[in-house]
Amino acid sequence: MKPPSAPSRFVLVGPPGAGKGTQAAWMSSRLGIPTISSSETLRRAVSIDSPLGRTVKSLMSTGELVSDDVMNELIRQRLTEADAAAGFVLDGFPRTVAQAEALDRFAGEPPIVVVALHVPEAEIEQRLASRRVCGRCRTPQSVSSQNSGQRNCAYCGATLEQRDDDDESTIKRRLFVYRNRVGPLLDYYKRRSRLITIDGSAAPHEVSAAVARQIALYGAGQTVTDVRTPRRR
Ligand code: AMP
Repeated sequence: MKPPSAPSRFVLVGPPGAGKGTQAAWMSSRLGIPTISSSETLRRAVSIDSPLGRTVKSLMSTGELVSDDVMNELIRQRLTEADAAAGFVLDGFPRTVAQAEALDRFAGEPPIVVVALHVPEAEIEQRLASRRVCGRCRTPQSVSSQNSGQRNCAYCGATLEQRDDDDESTIKRRLFVYRNRVGPLLDYYKRRSRLITIDGSAAPHEVSAAVARQIALYGAGQTVTDVRTPRRR
């Protein structure tokens, strides 16, 4: 199959804390397409007091996955909005093969390209423990040892919050759920020659540069499966 030139529809795959949000924001601003985050889409559903919102809330607070049917429908609806017509970056969806199959059905052509970020688990646990999200603009940020004094958003100044599901036991559960699901999901895209693999443990700007390079290669019709950036930490 000849890949499409200049792909504009992407899925980011990676464990929680791999930097999907950071890379999605970068891809969005560079390509002028929206990021559609599955967890933000779910949080919007939770904010509406309804039986569905209450079910989603309890699943999210334990780190379990929301059902494929609910998730597929929320994302299907979101992709019909005008801003997604020219392309999109999906962050956190699909997470199962059933979701990937549904996405291919309802998103149609051109095919979606998958960017998978690989980060060692020990580093992920460390990153999640220091992760905060801006209460206003939702930009994820780290309060690591270098900037532990920082409690306000570096972008809009609002207060940073820790996500409810970034506590230690929920992090472990979320990583377990991810590990169990990701292999078949990546195989699904690899078999269809739509998988770009990047070493997400490099510094964010290096990861972004690698993503840009591999997307360009993909657009030029080169095989990019399992390409990795050199580790420079
Ligand atoms: P995340 O921030 O992407 O790790 O997502 C937080 C939580 O939202 C997960 O632990 C799940 O409960 C739920 N969630 C997010 N995306 C999905 C998805 N594609 N399918 C099912 N549940 C999801």
